Amino acid sequence: AIIGFGKIARSEHLPAIMDNPAFRLAAVVSPSGAEDAGVPVFASLAELLAAMPGGIDAVSLCTPPKVRHAIAAEAIAAGLAVLLEKPPAATLGELDDLTARAQAAGTCLYAAWHSQHAPAVAPAAALLAGESVTRLAIDWREDVRKWHPGQDWIWEPDGFGVLDTGVNALSIASAILPEPLFVREAELFVPADRQAPIAARLRFSGGADMAAWFDWREQGDEAWRITLETASGRRIALEDGGARLTVDGIARPLGPIAEYPAIYACFADLVPARAVAVDSQPMRILADAALIARRITVAAHP
Ligand code: NAP
Repeated sequence: AIIGFGKIARSEHLPAIMDNPAFRLAAVVSPSGAEDAGVPVFASLAELLAAMPGGIDAVSLCTPPKVRHAIAAEAIAAGLAVLLEKPPAATLGELDDLTARAQAAGTCLYAAWHSQHAPAVAPAAALLAGESVTRLAIDWREDVRKWHPGQDWIWEPDGFGVLDTGVNALSIASAILPEPLFVREAELFVPADRQAPIAARLRFSGGADMAAWFDWREQGDEAWRITLETASGRRIALEDGGARLTVDGIARPLGPIAEYPAIYACFADLVPARAVAVDSQPMRILADAALIARRITVAAHP
């Protein structure tokens, strides 16, 4: 079952489930209904479990992060395999708790980071293995009105603001870098009428050339770019969120972008193994940034 039938559930999870023979969508949980789901719709997981005992084996949680922990804990207690959309919980503590619960119950828990399945990520990680990174520039800009239309939750204190998007870049960075990233300074630019940041700057340990810039005020096409330089003089750039890779200015051939089919291919392996696959590093970097951030008030975002 899909729990939380909003933008990402409809645009990515539903087609990826339909295209993977390991899965069959049995039901949807959506408090405000989901007439287009084509399967039974319930207002809560408890109602689904009562109406369809033994009817589902796994759930994909596509809600906003603030309600994930309670629903995931309920699903784990019911013996279901759980896929968590990113960010996997509202806090690191909640994520640790879900990991412990799944391990104790012997159920599958998969924290999916879709950007880690972009085609440039694995080759970039291979290129950087054993290298010393001397420059990291994450430049992640998009129009919030295009990617989060009408979503008020994203501006709440537990909605993450632009960090909801920035964590995609951090999930790539933590997957490709040979060493962990540590935040030294952070600035959160918060609209006067909101609780969550519309832009953020992070500076990482390792020198002035290690930084990230996230901005939701972009008007044109999105810029989802990570550029790196190594001590050996190699220049690596991941463009378009990891859809393109250039090495020393030369484009590398890559397969097509298929992040969600890759997520469900992983989940198909993890479910029967009852495996717990939780990469908490992207959340840890966000949490570290939030702990030490300077808050700067900027123009309201009507
Ligand atoms: P969305 O369009 O607001 O959808 C969230 C859905 O969750 C809504 O349909 C909402 O239903 C439902 N929901 C809220 N509370 C619920 C509950 N207690 N039980 C069941 N359903 C509940 O948001 P979204 O863009 O799909 O984002 C959802 C998650 O996917 C976020 O963590 C986001 O970071 C991630 N994501 C989003 C994108 C993107 O491009 N938007 C891309 C990748 C990942 P109601 O409308 O009835 O409240």
